[in-house]
Amino acid sequence: MQVLVVEDEKRLAQALEQILTEKKYMVDLAYDGRDGFDMAVSGIYDVIILDVMLPAMNGLEVAQMLRKEKIATPILMLTAKDQVADKVAGLDAGADDYMTKPFSPDELFARVRALTRRQGEVVIEEMTFDGIKLNLSTCDLSCNDRSVHLNFKEFEIMKILMSNPQAVTTKDDLIVKVWGYDSNAVDNNVEVYISFLRKKLEFIKANVEIISLRKVGYRLEGKANA
Ligand code: CA
Repeated sequence: MQVLVVEDEKRLAQALEQILTEKKYMVDLAYDGRDGFDMAVSGIYDVIILDVMLPAMNGLEVAQMLRKEKIATPILMLTAKDQVADKVAGLDAGADDYMTKPFSPDELFARVRALTRRQGEVVIEEMTFDGIKLNLSTCDLSCNDRSVHLNFKEFEIMKILMSNPQAVTTKDDLIVKVWGYDSNAVDNNVEVYISFLRKKLEFIKANVEIISLRKVGYRLEGKANA
């Protein structure tokens, strides 16, 4: 789960980052509305926590512009105490929920969880491609009666490749979606995980391989079609 926090009060932003990171969320921070919009429009986040009063562009404008760009990421708007007008305006602008400052970590988790659940209403348990199955709750990859467990990053990469089997996924795409927008991950990290995945595909005797397209990216292909 990747969360974007757009909040100009740095201490609050960092506190949010800390409590969300402890709960295993991946967190990116933006300190003004313009940066927040630029990051959010990538569409990689599962939830956006968005303050209303922000420099460069306020939270209402950010929410409105994101919805105009067809970015449907759930938005949790932060409002100062008693600014009822902000709450109404926030929901009108496209926010999904709001939370009044100050708030407790418990309230924050409850709201973030509710928003991610809402987004995941259609629960897909399993993805399949040419005889291989990826179980989305156990992170096990299997083919016939052979099965192997994927670690978090292998799982995330496999999920992206399987949801896009006909298309090429670029290394940059994988870095942003799996390591995060601000990460220092490089092409080499991706190659290492792709090689782990290839070994695991071999181990389960999958009839599927990850094809490298030099300087472009990766694609999943059935061996019969190769
Ligand atoms: Ca603020």
